[in-house]
Amino acid sequence: MSICDIARGEIRALVPYDADPPDLNFVNLNANEAPEFPYDAQLAGMENRYPELRPRSLQSALADLFDIDSKNLWPVRGSSEGIDLLIRAFCRAYRDNIVVLPPTFDMYSSYANMQAAEVRTAPLSVERDFAVDWQALEDQCDENTRVIFLCSPNNPTGNLIPKSEILEFTRSRAGKSVVVVDEAYVEFSGRTSLASEIDQHDNLVILRTLSKAYALAGARCGAVLADDAVIKLISALTSPYAISTPVTRLVLTALQDSNRAAAERQITDIVVERQRLSTRLEQLDAIDRVWRSFANFVLVRFASAAVAHDKLAAAGVTVREFGNNEWLRNCARITVGTAAENNRLIDALSSAKGGL
Ligand SMILES: *Cc1c(COP(=O)(O)O)cnc(C)c1O
Repeated sequence: MSICDIARGEIRALVPYDADPPDLNFVNLNANEAPEFPYDAQLAGMENRYPELRPRSLQSALADLFDIDSKNLWPVRGSSEGIDLLIRAFCRAYRDNIVVLPPTFDMYSSYANMQAAEVRTAPLSVERDFAVDWQALEDQCDENTRVIFLCSPNNPTGNLIPKSEILEFTRSRAGKSVVVVDEAYVEFSGRTSLASEIDQHDNLVILRTLSKAYALAGARCGAVLADDAVIKLISALTSPYAISTPVTRLVLTALQDSNRAAAERQITDIVVERQRLSTRLEQLDAIDRVWRSFANFVLVRFASAAVAHDKLAAAGVTVREFGNNEWLRNCARITVGTAAENNRLIDALSSAKGGL
């Protein structure tokens, strides 16, 4: 019995595309590549040869970063691609469903829609600071619930879901559903990853990304951490040669000790700045609520969303506004920027109406 027994049959049956790796001692006339790289130094880092068929070097570097065995990790083009692969692997179109806990990251339902998987919702409790309503979640699940997405710290609310509750729920779905814990912001939370629990729970899947704390959103690189059977399943679904050579090189360089230390210093700075920003925002008349955040953003509710919008626009500052969103009326998600950027936001919101 493996959690992969509930995956789509045609995906379980896939035979991964294979090709012999090039032997660099040979003259390689087998792949229709250009024989030489004809461009100048501006294109350094690019290659006339294909990248690795499967991204083994990234797999081991990311496994090292996220402290897990290589066989339990699969590199993806941003954790968004991980969401897509998991939904496609487990959800039969027009038959299976996923459950999401709004307000949360939109990509879960976007990719479910692409796969024609039904999206069910078990909203977080607005009255209880966006805590999970486990009973409501359980009530949404049926025999066709294949994937449940938990996001901790949650985007856009910034709160954590207690690990013990996640694990208890994961056990209750053993053999029935994959429970995905999206840890895109875990580095800012002061908490450790749930990845160490994968050994005990074959239906637990963790998503990590280099887009936020590791400052590499442009590289499109993340990872799926899971039981090795799940990793095999989604690796068979990944496009051959998916990850380009420049991205692999860049990520391997970024993960070298000195660069990693610089990224970790920035994480510390952002956490300190998040506290300062939250305190300053709480003092503003323009804001009537600031939620506690464990991520690199802060959720606030404006006294008047329209007035705040105009003041910010006049000052040339953009935040993620939620307009009439049913759970987040008059709310906005503010990314923690540099101290100077945050001061510009604070000054804009402190100014009298009309920016005078
Ligand atoms: C930003 C974010 C991601 C990361 O997406 P990438 O595709 O890795 O850039 C994943 N999940 C959540 C909740 C996010 O906010």
